Amino acid sequence: MENTDWKHLPFAYMKTDYNVRCYCRNGQWGELEICSSAYINMHMAATCLHYGQEAFEGLKAFCGKDGRIRVFRWRENAKRMYNTAIGIKMVPVPEEIFGQAVFSVIRLNKRFIPPYGHGASLYIRPLLIGTGAEVGVKPAKDYLFVVFVTPVGPYFKEGFKPVDVMICRSHDRAAPLGTGAIKVGGNYAASLTSLEIANKKGYSTTLYLDAKEKKYIDEAGPANFFGIKKNMYITPESKSILPSITNMSLMDLARKEGMTVEKRPVPVDELNTFDEVGACGTAAVITPIRKIVDPDLNVFYEYCKDGHPGPVSTRLYKRLTAIQYGDEEDQFHWIDYIE
Ligand SMILES: *Cc1c(COP(=O)(O)O)cnc(C)c1O
Repeated sequence: MENTDWKHLPFAYMKTDYNVRCYCRNGQWGELEICSSAYINMHMAATCLHYGQEAFEGLKAFCGKDGRIRVFRWRENAKRMYNTAIGIKMVPVPEEIFGQAVFSVIRLNKRFIPPYGHGASLYIRPLLIGTGAEVGVKPAKDYLFVVFVTPVGPYFKEGFKPVDVMICRSHDRAAPLGTGAIKVGGNYAASLTSLEIANKKGYSTTLYLDAKEKKYIDEAGPANFFGIKKNMYITPESKSILPSITNMSLMDLARKEGMTVEKRPVPVDELNTFDEVGACGTAAVITPIRKIVDPDLNVFYEYCKDGHPGPVSTRLYKRLTAIQYGDEEDQFHWIDYIE
C-alpha cells in the first residue's frame, strides 16, 4: 500500500478492504461471504452479548524476502478454536472453512500485507459468536464466524527488550476448572482490572498464580510463561492455561537444540532458580522479563542483570521469527504459502 509508514506501524486496528463471514443456521454452516463493512448487524438478544458465547483466535501472515506470503501454523488455530467452541457450547467451525476463510481474507487484502524487513506482519483475527436470540441461559442456535485482518508492527515499539511484571494475588484470570484453557473473551474481561493495577504501578503485565493455592505460576497476562535453567526449557502445566501455539513452537525448537523441555507445575519459589524468564504469544513472540515483583510478599526476582535479554531467549526468538519470515528453513512444516 502506498503512503504507509511500514517502519512505524503500531500494533493496532487498521481498516482493510474486506473481511470474510460465514453464518451457521440451525447447526449448518453456509457459504463463505466477502464483506466490505466492518460492522455486524445482530439481534440485541444475541447470546454473545449476554452470555459470553464468544471465541477468538489470533495468527499472523508474513511476507518473506522472496515476496511470498507465509501463514504460520493456522491449523493449530483452527483446532484451538474448535475446542473453544465445544467448551462454551457453540457450533464449531470445521477446519476446512477456517482455512478457506483465512486464506481468502489474506488474498483479498494483499495490499495491506507489510513488506519484508520492518518486523511487521498481517495479523489475522478469526471471531466466532453466538448470534441467535435467547433470553433464557442456553446456547444459541445461530452463529457467525468472521475473519478480519489488520497490518501490525512489532508489539513493543522498543523491540525485543526486557520488561517488568507484577505477581497478582488480588485477582485471578481463570478458575482451575473454568475457561482458562480456551480462548474466550470473558477471560480477557476478567484480566482487565489486574492489568490496570499493574500498569498503574509501572509494570507491563501481571503474572497470575494458580487460583486455588496461589502456589504455582499460571500465565503471564495474555501470554504463556517459560523459564530457562541451564539446558532446560520449563513451562507451567495447568488446567487454566491457554495452550499457546508460540509456546508449542518454542518447545519444539528448544528440543531440536538439545534442550530438555519440562511442562509441569512451576512453584513460585522456583523463580529464584531460573537463568532467564519470559512470556510468549503470537503478538510479541517472546517478551523477555527483567524483573518479577511480588508486592504483597515484598519479594522480587531479577533477570537480565546486564539489561539485555538472555542468550537462550534471544536465540529462540531469532530462530522462530526467522522461520516465520522465511529466513530459516521451515524444518517443522509450520508454514503454508498463499499462492
Ligand atoms: C492467545 C493466548 C496466548 C498465546 O497463544 P498463541 O497461540 O501463542 O498466540 C496465551 N495466553 C492466553 C490467555 C491467550 O489468550
